[in-house]
Amino acid sequence: MDEQIKCIGCGSTLQSEDPKKSGYLPNSALEKALANEDSDVYCQRCFRLRHYNEIMPVEENNDDFLALLNSIGEKNALVVNVVDLFDFSNSLIPSLKRFIGGNEYVLVGNKIDLFPKNTKESKVKDWMRQESNRSGLQPEKIFLVSAAKKRNLEDLINFLAKKGKKKDIYFVGTTNVGKSTLINAIISARSELKDVITTSKFPGTTLDAIKIPISEGHYLIDTPGIMSKNQLASHLTGKELEMVAPKKPLKPATYQLKPGQTLFLAGLGRFDFLEGEASGVTVYAERNLYIHRTKLENADAFYQKHKDDLLLPPSPEDDLGPMKGQTFSPKTKSDVLFGGVGFITVPKDIVIKAYTPEGIGLGIRRALI
Ligand code: GDP
Repeated sequence: MDEQIKCIGCGSTLQSEDPKKSGYLPNSALEKALANEDSDVYCQRCFRLRHYNEIMPVEENNDDFLALLNSIGEKNALVVNVVDLFDFSNSLIPSLKRFIGGNEYVLVGNKIDLFPKNTKESKVKDWMRQESNRSGLQPEKIFLVSAAKKRNLEDLINFLAKKGKKKDIYFVGTTNVGKSTLINAIISARSELKDVITTSKFPGTTLDAIKIPISEGHYLIDTPGIMSKNQLASHLTGKELEMVAPKKPLKPATYQLKPGQTLFLAGLGRFDFLEGEASGVTVYAERNLYIHRTKLENADAFYQKHKDDLLLPPSPEDDLGPMKGQTFSPKTKSDVLFGGVGFITVPKDIVIKAYTPEGIGLGIRRALI
């Protein structure tokens, strides 16, 4: 190609050979731009960024991203950490602690719409506070919102508007927590912002940013989502995620179990009832997820026999490791957590063992319901 045009978003020379390289635009669009002698052409990536507020995610240990976090620590900023309430432990960013510096830090728990209607929000916040303190993070405030359903956004938006008068606001989060959905919900709630989204790069890095003016001289800045190996979303295909990620509020399903029985949550979770009185345990997961009850003594054989048919997902291609378990003996009614899949409410004074692939997303909390 003799003629060269540059993307007006990122300045890269437009090309249609390699979608992975900068400046990519499908051939048809590039030819059209050349024929029309367009002067305002965006590469595909900048186009998506501008129109859908999508920023390319980064790996956990991306040097540019660590440098970016570091630079936030040196500023007077507000750090807003968006987390997925349904996969909380995997959406916390432990390294954030080192980078916040003396900055204000708040947590926004997203996807509250998935929790059953009778969930007490104060209990959810208590649990989030305990967990984040355990990771060395001390949020000043905790918001519970649903970006998708536009619930509880007003408090957060007012808070951001107030803080944004004095400082920049950085949104950070792992991928799939709903950060872009939330940013878009905030923009659409403030109609004056609709057309003023500006995209840019963080100085000295290859990272994209979305900068939304929030007051005279201050911005709300969306940073790239961090891909964590511990998130199911990083392993499952889009279709599998559809099967696992609930779309509607979780509906309880109670199973009467006695010691020596096992429940499988497809191939993504296993729950062994080891000791205690026969009791009801309540599963909260996507309604169509395959749940199978069997005898503990047959569980290993059942898993080996059916992991590639009944117990899907995950499929062998998903590259999730073997099931690893953790034993819990709660002293109060508790929720055993299977991050990204759901939780099982158990009575006190029983002993159970919970498994997930590689043990990711396992945890326990005081029962929320
Ligand atoms: P990002 O990677 O953090 O930017 O996440 P996205 O905004 O792309 O959202 C990830 C997934 O979570 C998508 O499937 C969204 O539809 C879903 N999602 C986002 N916000 C909510 C929410 O408030 N409730 C529910 N149930 N799902 C949500």
